Amino acid sequence: MTVLVAGAGPAGARVAQLLSRRGISVVLVERLKRPQDQIFSSAVIPIRALHELRVPISAVSTFWSGWQLFDPNGISHEWFSDENIGVVLDFAEFRKQLWAKASESGVELLLGWRVSSVQSHINSVEVLLVDPNGSKQIMMVDWVIDATGNRRALLGKPELRQLSSNDHLMEGSGIEWILQGDEMNTFSWMNRVTFFLGTKWIPYGYGWIFPMAYNRLKIGVCRLPPAKEKRLVPLLDQLLNLINENGLNNLSVIDRHGGTIRSTLRRSEPHLSERIFGVGDVISTANLLGGEGIRHALASAEVLADFISKLCLSKHSSEISSKAIDSTYKSLLRRRLGFRWNISNKIAKRTWLSLSNEKADMKMTALINGMSKNSSAEDLSALLFDYRFERYGFRLMPYLFGWR
Ligand SMILES: Cc1cc2nc3c(=O)[nH]c(=O)nc-3n(C[C@H](O)[C@H](O)[C@H](O)COP(=O)(O)OP(=O)(O)OC[C@H]3O[C@@H](n4cnc5c(N)ncnc54)[C@H](O)[C@@H]3O)c2cc1C
Repeated sequence: MTVLVAGAGPAGARVAQLLSRRGISVVLVERLKRPQDQIFSSAVIPIRALHELRVPISAVSTFWSGWQLFDPNGISHEWFSDENIGVVLDFAEFRKQLWAKASESGVELLLGWRVSSVQSHINSVEVLLVDPNGSKQIMMVDWVIDATGNRRALLGKPELRQLSSNDHLMEGSGIEWILQGDEMNTFSWMNRVTFFLGTKWIPYGYGWIFPMAYNRLKIGVCRLPPAKEKRLVPLLDQLLNLINENGLNNLSVIDRHGGTIRSTLRRSEPHLSERIFGVGDVISTANLLGGEGIRHALASAEVLADFISKLCLSKHSSEISSKAIDSTYKSLLRRRLGFRWNISNKIAKRTWLSLSNEKADMKMTALINGMSKNSSAEDLSALLFDYRFERYGFRLMPYLFGWR
């Protein structure tokens, strides 16, 4: 049995490693040549994910113990914990570690190669690969896993007819620069993650400043506007505004990157098409509230690796219909990500699509003021990482759900 995994981001590299450890022959194909190419992710994750999802400690750029929110009026609110709450990963180092772990487990890793197309047959898949010199090669495998992130290179972007009636595809884009500072000019941004919320900063989205090792800062903006909104200021202008407003224009820019966030609210799109499984961002595991997808991509890789291993052991696997495989995989993933994941996406939709006018700014200000009075840093983590909205009590629920 051979499985080909297209894409060696967090989802693809992890699923390849886990399948190989279970004795399955795995080829992992990644179009990038080096882990430091296109490091689009801000890579903030909660500290417990290091242990729960076996994220290597050497991929940590810095730890942080506080949340800071700038409200729509530009007023700062802070919450600090005695313990570290989360980490900012060095995404290039994280990729490097994931690739190393996959190789150590016996995965054949093809860097600089691209999966161009796939064709499913009854019991096999024909894969057209393009090598680093541009030559084409065909490989026959038993299953393919599409782990190409929001590009969805093999499974394709979900069409409306493939989604359940209460589902919706949301798309956003983000850009981020890495700034090099010194101890003096980065001091006030260290040990915390900072978000900027409100139309003054960016309509339909949020801005951020995250600390990194060596006095570096990640500064970025992301927005998820309604599809028909045509009057948007260029994202780059919004980023420059954030840099100016925070007096960071004197820092040198050492990297510029950006990417797309694309997720359905309820993940009702097919997770399998013929002999091609999806994993990670391909099947919308990135959560839209804070654009957080690394943890969920890794979790989906664990679910899929378990599922495929069991499928391989089953004597009757060839008799199971694609529809049954798709629905079992979906329900296993739903169980793993939990019902709160959906609620969070629903809140994200209401929040980002409406954050474009004074009324929305006022709601946001009221929400942040409420949290300022009643919440601890741990409460914020429970909200933004665990999606435990009920901990805010009934007074704040109406704001969170957009009822006021
Ligand atoms: C601006 C921005 C900020 C973000 N910040 C955070 C954050 O702070 N915390 C967080 O948890 N998440 C964040 N995310 C989301 C997170 O980075 C993704 O959810 C996560 O990387 C998804 O992992 P993945 O493996 O599914 O996909 P990806 O990481 O996108 O990996 C897909 C891989 O497939 C490769 N590929 C694509 N097409 C092909 C092909 N045809 N053949 C071979 N290889 C191919 C790509 O090169 C890539 O390496 C952010 C995203 C953006 C855009």
